[in-house]
Amino acid sequence: MKAVVLTGLRQMEIRDVPEPKIEKDTDVLLKIEMVGVCGSDVHYYETGRIGAQIVEYPFIVGHECAATVAAVGKSVTGVKAGDAVVVDPAIYCHNCFQCKIGRENTCYNLRFLGTPGQGGGCLCEYIVMSQECCYPTKGALTFEQAVLCEPLSIAAYSVERAKVPKNANVAILGAGPIGLCTFVSAKAKNINTCYITEKISERIDIAKKAGATWVGNPDKQDIVGEILKQQPDGLDIAFECAGQQETVDQCMEILRPGGTLVLTGIPRFDRISLAIDKMRRKEITIVNIRRQNEFTQNSVDMIAAGQVDVDFMVTHHFPLEETQKAFDLVAGYQDGVVKAMITM
Ligand SMILES: [Zn+2]
Ligand SMILES: [Zn+2]
Repeated sequence: MKAVVLTGLRQMEIRDVPEPKIEKDTDVLLKIEMVGVCGSDVHYYETGRIGAQIVEYPFIVGHECAATVAAVGKSVTGVKAGDAVVVDPAIYCHNCFQCKIGRENTCYNLRFLGTPGQGGGCLCEYIVMSQECCYPTKGALTFEQAVLCEPLSIAAYSVERAKVPKNANVAILGAGPIGLCTFVSAKAKNINTCYITEKISERIDIAKKAGATWVGNPDKQDIVGEILKQQPDGLDIAFECAGQQETVDQCMEILRPGGTLVLTGIPRFDRISLAIDKMRRKEITIVNIRRQNEFTQNSVDMIAAGQVDVDFMVTHHFPLEETQKAFDLVAGYQDGVVKAMITM
């Protein structure tokens, strides 16, 4: 089968690799239909690593995918050949201490699609996943929507972890795919206002069109001053979705005493600093987000029920042969890209 293989920094090739086979009775062979290019895939492409996770070449990336079931193992009951499915990229062991206390997302033996040291990715024609990772769309989702369930599940999990109060005033710093997914997830919780900050003009327009209360560009305006002018008491929750020092600093300024800072963005560096005096005096709660914990079904349901709109995030489509073009586009934040999709 064809696979897109990372072969070095900013290098990839389409290679012929062996097709995976069903080994366990609970395995499902999936024909990949569409793959979303994620910021983390691009981190691996550009830098060969995310923190301690270092790529060993050749390596297949990709973890956001929509698939059709090609074949199932003997004891699979939830899906059958021909079913369109959303794929949860996380495979848990169910036996370790973290799994047993309901923290599968920090499973000691977690294997996540397209993650160095854990497992190859989905930028190939077929993968095998455990049946518990396959969520049938029952015809209610497009392939694009099925792909977007992955970032949406992280966002929905972050909104859950933030314990959004009724009529909350929130901010989202960074309007990339995760920031926008956080916006639609928060909006579904009946928040009062949502302030979004972003530097890329196309993303600012998209966030405005999606219905943000206010969208500001920190390169062009004093976003802290303007948000506090509109919300003098400060905001209940700030979702940091950019992974930058300056956005973390801005969150500390715009949050009210007793507010919550949710760190969803993945920084490209190992450390950030926190304004400890401000944070302590304001008694800010910090919530870290590690991927999605069992929120895939929730995302499928939210899209199917029309509670969230994610279609506007899909800005580009590429065939498999042009995967590198898609990665370069996303890496360079070119052409107003939010989510680029690869059709297999
Ligand atoms: Zn992703
Ligand atoms: Zn485990």
